This record gives sequence, structure tokens and C-alpha cells, in this order.
Amino acid sequence: MSRKPAQKSTIAFAFDIDGVLVRGKEPLPGASETIRLLQRARIPFIFLTNGGGLTEKDHAAKTSARLGVDIDPDQFVQSHSPFHGLVPKYKNKRILVIGGEGNQIRHVAEAYGFNDVVTSSDLFVEWNSIHPFPEVTAHHHTAHGRRIPDIRTREIAAILVWSSSRDWCMDLQVMHDLLLGKLQENPPELYLSNPNFDWSTSHEYKRLAQGALRECLASLFRFSTKGEVEFKYTTVGKPTRITFRWGEKTMVEYRDKTWEILNTEGDSRSEEPPPIRTVYMIGDNPDSDIAGAKQYESQIGAVWKSILVETGVYQAGTTPSHKPTHHAKDVAEAVRMALDIEGYSSTGVRVCMKVYHNKEGDDHKEGHVNIGDGDNNRKGHALQDRTNTADSIEAILPRFGKLKLPARCLLVEAEDDPARKP
Ligand SMILES: [Mg+2]
Repeated sequence: MSRKPAQKSTIAFAFDIDGVLVRGKEPLPGASETIRLLQRARIPFIFLTNGGGLTEKDHAAKTSARLGVDIDPDQFVQSHSPFHGLVPKYKNKRILVIGGEGNQIRHVAEAYGFNDVVTSSDLFVEWNSIHPFPEVTAHHHTAHGRRIPDIRTREIAAILVWSSSRDWCMDLQVMHDLLLGKLQENPPELYLSNPNFDWSTSHEYKRLAQGALRECLASLFRFSTKGEVEFKYTTVGKPTRITFRWGEKTMVEYRDKTWEILNTEGDSRSEEPPPIRTVYMIGDNPDSDIAGAKQYESQIGAVWKSILVETGVYQAGTTPSHKPTHHAKDVAEAVRMALDIEGYSSTGVRVCMKVYHNKEGDDHKEGHVNIGDGDNNRKGHALQDRTNTADSIEAILPRFGKLKLPARCLLVEAEDDPARKP
């Protein structure tokens, strides 16, 4: 038997991915072990990344493979995840999607639930002259654009920028036209994901990201309107409040889901899950991870703290643009630090409690509890009691009366008593 009742966690974690858990395609040292530690300890956490271009399911699978751990898509928040919230508004209206290669973003948008999705390649197929300089990219647009019969008559209600444009010249031209009321009478609304101006790649200098495309578009719009019309748009992705709110909502839903699963694994507890009181954002980018956590006002009364690590964008020894709550060398140190601060234990997951019991499961069998560091029961408390195999830890503990437990136990396991095996 290896039933593991839920840890009554009141903390939670939000992890940036690039520069925190992975660099390129490789996991960073200690990253996989840290995720497994939290999974074993039943401490809720989410991934909060400004990456995107995939469904949450596909991105979770990709990250799972890189880290070698199982990640539930329900704990995955990307820069464009808040676009899920736009589905009720635009479900049956036409949207123009920007970013990615070929039909990648069209498919992601359709998977989100948008039913009438067009791409700039579709516009190119209808109006070849829409692209002033098609020589380099016309083959791509022709290969992936679709003929849409009512493309000249059915208006685009919104432009959603999901990931990096592969043809800035074309996409800026099309967005500029639409926002100025060309091609159609009413300008669409504009939604952008990932505000980051630049990002780190294998190149020696940072590369321009979606925030740079936004600045170009804003500049073009202001020039064309002589500054007389406001450039209106909505941005999602870190560090925006919208994305942190979406992340917190995702975290609570995931915590509730896993709590329900735990509660249906053989016992009848009906208590509510413990509230999340403190969330640690672990990130490498002061402008998105740290700034976002600092400015976010929790919707559930939690305190958001941040830990800046040195394995990505932030250079150790420099002054970050936004001051984190704490600094740490890497993600493993960051999580250990947070657990220590919050009183979970001084040695991380190594402090744990094991409940030993008999296999037979009748009401009068003996059992005992050992409290120690999990591997060698260093503290060696051993108590005798009558219990049975189906008891959860919550049911067993009151029987030990004055037993003093560690302030919090990270890992609670029920196992067969090795001393009683034949
Ligand atoms: Mg990062």
C-alpha cells in the first residue's frame, strides 16, 4: 500500500520555464528533482511562461519530455492563455491571428474554441498586392493561405497576436490597414500576448520579441493618424495583471482538482482544501517575473513573493530592474529557501513522517508512527497504537494524543511495516 494523503499546504509556486527550469532544450541542474519534490509533497504549483504558440496540452507535453516529469496541462499558463477568456466574445465572430509558421496558430486558436479564424496568408491569397514586397515570403503565404469565400464581406472583429510574427512586413501592413479602417469599415479590436521587447536565444545579442512588434505597430498607427487617434490594445502575458490573475485562477482550480482526486482515493474526508496564503514566483527575468509578482493584487487574499534566480536573463551581481523578495542561485535553492522561510522544514523534503501499519486491516492490529528524515528516521520516535490499514494519516494521528509533530510535514506516507514482513 502506498497511499499518500494530501499535504495541507498553504503555499504554492509559480515557475517561469526558460532560464529557470530549462535552457534551450536542456533541463537546468536540479530542476526536475525540484518539480518531483513538490509533486511528492502535494504542494500546488503552476508553470507561468511567456512562451506560446502551442496549446497548453502540447506545451505541457514538450516541457514534460524535457524535464522528465509528468506535467498536467491544467497547471500550464502561457502568454496567450488568457485568450481562453475571449472565446465567449469571439467564438462565432471572425478573428485574424498573427504569429507562428504555416497554420500553427490557426490550429491553436481553433483548439481554444474560436470558430472563424483567418490568417494574414488568407488575406494574401485574396489580395496578392496586399504585401508590398512579396518576393521572399509569397511562397509561404500561398502554401498556407486558404480561399475564404466571404473574406471581403465578413468583417474581422478582432486581431489576436499569439506568438512572434514570421513576416513583419506583411503582418504590420495588414494590422495597420485594418486598425485604420481599411479593407473593412469597422476597425477590429487588438489583443497582444507577451509584452517582452526582446528575448535571449543562442545568438550573442538579444532578439526582438512581440513587444517590439507592438512598438512598431504603435509607431505606424500614430504616424498615420498624426497622433490624433489613440492606439488602443489589450496586452496579456507576464507581467500583466490579467495573466497573473489567470495564473492564480489556474492554480486554485488545479489545487481543487488534485484535492478532489486525493479525497476520492479511498477515504471519506469532505473538508475543504486549505487556502493558499503565499505564492512564490520563481523567475529569471526581473521585468516580467519579478515585476509581475510585485504589482499583482491577489484575488484570493494570498501574498505573492518572488525569488530571482541566476540561471537565465538576470546576471548575478547586477542590480535588477525590479527588486525581488529574495535571490537564489537556481530553482532548487529557491524552492528550498521558500520552504524553509514558510516553516515547512529546515531540510526540505527529507523531513517526513511515515506511518507503518499491518497488512491485514482488522481493527485490533498494532501500528506505530515514526517521525524522522524519511530515510533513516533520525529522530526515531516510535509509538504503538491500534489502527488498521485503511486509516489515513488524519485518522491515525489523534490516537497518539500528546505526540508532537514537526511544524509541518512535507511528506506523509503510509507503508507496510517492514519490521513485520515475514
Ligand atoms: Mg525566463
